[in-house]
Amino acid sequence: MSNNIESILHEDRIFKPTADFKSQANITEEKYHALKAKADEDYEGYWCDLAREKLDWSKDFTVGLDDSNAPFYKWFADGELNASYNCIDRHLEEKEDKLAIIFEADDGSVEQYTYKELHDEVCRLANALTAQGIEKGDRVIIYMPMIPQAVFAMQACARIGAIHSIVFGGFSAEALRDRIEDAGARMVITANAGCRGGKSVPLKGAVDAALEKGGDSVRKVIVYKRTDDEVPMKEGRDISWHDAIAGMSNYHDAVMVNAEHPLFLLYTSGSTGKPKGIQHSTGGYLLNAYVTNEWVFDLKDSDVFWCTADVGWITGHTYVAYGPLSMGMTIVMFEGVPTYPDAGRFWQVCQDHGVTVFYTAPTAIRALMKFGDDLPKQYDLSKLRLLGTVGEPINPEAWIWYHDVIGRGECPIVDTWWQTETGAHMIAPVPGVTDLKPGSCTKPLPGIDAHIVDEEGVELTHGEGGYLVVRKPWPSMVRTIWNDDERFVDTYFAMFKNKYYVVGDSAHLDHDGNFWIMGRIDDVLNVSGHRLGTMEIESALVSHEHVAEAAVVGKPHDVKGESIFAFVVMNMEVPPGDERLALVQELRNHVAKEIGPIAKPDDIRFGSNLPKTRSGKIMRRLLRSIAKGEEITSDTSTLEDPSILDQFMQPHK
Ligand code: ATP
Ligand code: MG
Repeated sequence: MSNNIESILHEDRIFKPTADFKSQANITEEKYHALKAKADEDYEGYWCDLAREKLDWSKDFTVGLDDSNAPFYKWFADGELNASYNCIDRHLEEKEDKLAIIFEADDGSVEQYTYKELHDEVCRLANALTAQGIEKGDRVIIYMPMIPQAVFAMQACARIGAIHSIVFGGFSAEALRDRIEDAGARMVITANAGCRGGKSVPLKGAVDAALEKGGDSVRKVIVYKRTDDEVPMKEGRDISWHDAIAGMSNYHDAVMVNAEHPLFLLYTSGSTGKPKGIQHSTGGYLLNAYVTNEWVFDLKDSDVFWCTADVGWITGHTYVAYGPLSMGMTIVMFEGVPTYPDAGRFWQVCQDHGVTVFYTAPTAIRALMKFGDDLPKQYDLSKLRLLGTVGEPINPEAWIWYHDVIGRGECPIVDTWWQTETGAHMIAPVPGVTDLKPGSCTKPLPGIDAHIVDEEGVELTHGEGGYLVVRKPWPSMVRTIWNDDERFVDTYFAMFKNKYYVVGDSAHLDHDGNFWIMGRIDDVLNVSGHRLGTMEIESALVSHEHVAEAAVVGKPHDVKGESIFAFVVMNMEVPPGDERLALVQELRNHVAKEIGPIAKPDDIRFGSNLPKTRSGKIMRRLLRSIAKGEEITSDTSTLEDPSILDQFMQPHK
């Protein structure tokens, strides 16, 4: 029997770009083929041309790709530029009064910043950082709510060449301390609190707790006063944002840095283990951020782009802070949660600000889908013209709902596959060109050399699944894991001896050359000699009318090797006793009918939610421990709600 992963999900609905969409798209069929041809013919020259066309350089580069120390690749290494200059200053001449940021707070109040206002805020803060002793190359932790000041802080760091590392505001003091210490940060920029779902969520307290027992490298803490809550300040260390920028000039000459100068570190979400400090460059990162916004989101001057991701995730870096601003676009930032004051909030924000391009995660779509079609129908979503998803495979069921109910059956959906490490979209539709299939992220972008290989590194062309890899280095790829070059090589390159960047996901190709992500390589199940991805079984479960979410893991089994263990969240009350048993049977039969008897879950447990990281990813390694009946000893610090685990640990009577 082959060692490759079997694909059991069959989805063959095709959605072609409409004539209307095509006629206005940034990338037409002709341009798309020209880009691909150029990338095939002269890979390095292709990226060099784009880098010169899309970004402003204070010093031009002479070399594109430097692979002399592979896999520590460099791009445009002797060129110089500044990311903040590219996101702000260069737009001022033409777009001074254009809105850069529309911000809606948790309580519904709205603030707006033009490019000129953004410039002034960022310059004042950049001058303040310098006045507080921050220098080029210093690491600055940003631990903020989802408010415009978080973007000001990122931009101010970039302006002076300081390396920011954002820690999601929902993380605990311990998680914050670990990251402060790993990064050796000199400063923390925080707020007294944030507002979410009508409640104030304290932040500064966690910074104090983190610094009480460590984090000795930190000299200064800047505190933005977001709410009226009291905020204890530590003499000599803490300074209010307000005081820090008082009297600072709104002029600041952006510090030009080498293209390889780290723009930021970002710790991965930790779904598969200890978070890694992913180091990104300035030039290469910004280039892919720019072009993916242009190609995949089709952004134009008239658009209002809302990416719902928090700036604590890579998505918030590339599709809130850096990409759209580098193009001079208007973005929406939202502080609250999708279900407050009710589950129509996202649609209200889209309506009120005239959002045209909307980007969110499958977990949010599934959560909102549970509330039915009536809520979104109360809002005018007619300005929406393109929808996107990211974070995990989207089940065809959720895709179709998103397309029909939110997108009026007209908006293309771009299912974007990428990672913290890739910096920007890698496999994603180009919406004026690509035929869409629900659940597939479709094809690699022009210049992205993605493949699927078996354990020997031999390419698989269609059918069976294998390792998703990228052959040629691309500009926005991770440069290293901060402080851990060895882990960098081991994690991403060792498996095929530097021949490929190894993604860590499994995937397969269909006959039309579309990529289907099947799950994490570590999550592949081996059932009676069949290797199955988790995602397809989960999709089958979710296609049942009463299943809201599902996660599947393997449990060691004497005969089969592994048996299938499913954790399910229903959108109805789970009945007791015999009715529950009947429901379990019904779900098993449903999977058998959808994809085949081999994929029938042996065990099914119910809970009110799944254990997820704070970015909405299912923590399957914890569920694996539960399935085995083990105690959970591994790191749960990035979990959203640890109490969920208890629910699943109880076998049902
Ligand atoms: P860690 O590396 O610490 O385990 P993480 O992988 O969850 O954390 P991210 O970099 O935010 O952190 O997530 C990237 C992963 O998310 C991808 O490797 C893939 O598994 C999944 N993913 C992202 N987008 C998609 C998509 N469109 N389709 C399928 N999977 C996706
Ligand atoms: Mg990962």
